[in-house]
Amino acid sequence: MLQRRVELPLFFRQNKDRSPLAKPVELGKQQAQLAASEPAGLSKRCELPVIQSDKSGQPSAPNWVYAHSEVNDSASTPPASYRNAIPPTEERPSTDLSSLLQNQRRQNQRLRQVERKLRSSLNLATVLGATVVETAAFFQVKQVSLLRHDTIQHRWQPVAQYCENQDLAWQQPFSFSADEFPALIETLQQGHSVHINSNREDAIAQERLRWRSQWPGNWLLVPVKRRQPMDYSLNSAISLEAAEEASSHEHWGIMALACANNQQSWSAQQATQSQSIVVELEWAIAQAHQHQELILANQELQKLALSDGLTRLANRRRFDEHLADEWQRLARDQQPLSLILCDLDHFKRYNDAFGHPAGDRCLIHVARALLNGPQRPADLVARYGGEEFAVILPNTDTHGAWRIAQKIHEHIRDLKIEHAPNNEEKYITVTMGVSTVLPGHNNTAQMLVQAADLALYHAKQQGRNRTYVHAHYNTVDADLERGSKASLDMTPAED
Ligand code: GH3
Ligand code: MG
Ligand code: MG
Repeated sequence: MLQRRVELPLFFRQNKDRSPLAKPVELGKQQAQLAASEPAGLSKRCELPVIQSDKSGQPSAPNWVYAHSEVNDSASTPPASYRNAIPPTEERPSTDLSSLLQNQRRQNQRLRQVERKLRSSLNLATVLGATVVETAAFFQVKQVSLLRHDTIQHRWQPVAQYCENQDLAWQQPFSFSADEFPALIETLQQGHSVHINSNREDAIAQERLRWRSQWPGNWLLVPVKRRQPMDYSLNSAISLEAAEEASSHEHWGIMALACANNQQSWSAQQATQSQSIVVELEWAIAQAHQHQELILANQELQKLALSDGLTRLANRRRFDEHLADEWQRLARDQQPLSLILCDLDHFKRYNDAFGHPAGDRCLIHVARALLNGPQRPADLVARYGGEEFAVILPNTDTHGAWRIAQKIHEHIRDLKIEHAPNNEEKYITVTMGVSTVLPGHNNTAQMLVQAADLALYHAKQQGRNRTYVHAHYNTVDADLERGSKASLDMTPAED
């Protein structure tokens, strides 16, 4: 007696060497919860990523996962769980007209179910995975593959695949170029489906034979078009061009279906049903792309909301958020937090002499120089307002902050931006105020800012182009490096 081993369909990740000993992909905790919350059926397995998308939402082929069920004899009875998910299409001929109609109605209902599932996700990987699994279940076929057209290499490569038998997937790589099947590809790109097992003596007869010698089976190839996502903006709502573009026929790829062994050919009705699924898939892909674009646009907007329009540094809002976050963290860790406030000297004179646009360019150069000062990831350089900048230095004591301030003086000096003719200094200079605190219950972030502001005020009073460290009576001249002044005395001041 034939021993039959039936296993539940699983997802396997492709091994690098394409060996059939693929390992099951482990469900992450979140994915497992998602799967558990899904209604019973095949769709829960589609929560796994079948492909990975890059930033633009384009799927990248190599890391795909395929749905797999294993039956170790040649008979293609699907596993029990498979049959329970979506009842098989009944192909039994019936002479009774009412039961024929009932059958037809049931099939239509199941088709709508499949289509709804494709539309239920905005994630491209999930959409593609659901398509191959649900389509395979609907038609009771041994293989369903989605082959994406790579327009650069002009190749068709699988991005999602359901295989009833694991070996089928690996015996012959399921990928080809336009040169291998030129007439077949042309027919598909014109929007026509192709029956590979057809015996018609037409222009693609030879290519059909070649296809079957590489990938045995009764294949139905259905072209998948690239749909333009709907534009919901007010202006385009009434645009006929937009509507026409939305139904444009650009080629996306192919859905390839292989019949079960006992099935002789694809019926006209099945061909129509597969096209109906593909149309749903096309809109689901367009929707997923649009969703991806919206996510990217939102991320871009968030970045813009937190950055300064002129210098691209963090803006005041970002500064406030970062200072509050670091304050909390360092209060817990009992680590020092330093702040540098940096002000361009006599910048009004510069604007008056060279004009506002030149002033803007100068601010951009200074911003870049400031970014070269601090080095740690948690450090933040922000535009505090006008010609004032701020540098947040977590886990940094007074000595460390002073060293950063010295670096900033150096970088600004190296810019050698000529100042207004009536300015004492030949080049643009900055004055800085530094404050350091150990965050705790008896002080606030606001006090740190006030202390730095006071230090800046003192530094200006003493003649600009220098750094004043709060709670120290010394002012540190920017020319210290040039040896014109004595070294900094860091002894804390006695109030
Ligand atoms: P001090 O040395 O005391 O800081 O003098 P100051 O001239 O730098 O300071 P003041 O506060 O008198 O003037 C600041 C100037 O900075 C005036 C303003 O035109 C200029 N400024 C502020 N924001 C911008 C900006 O975005 N672009 C340009 N070009 N100039 C700006
Ligand atoms: Mg100022
Ligand atoms: Mg100034």
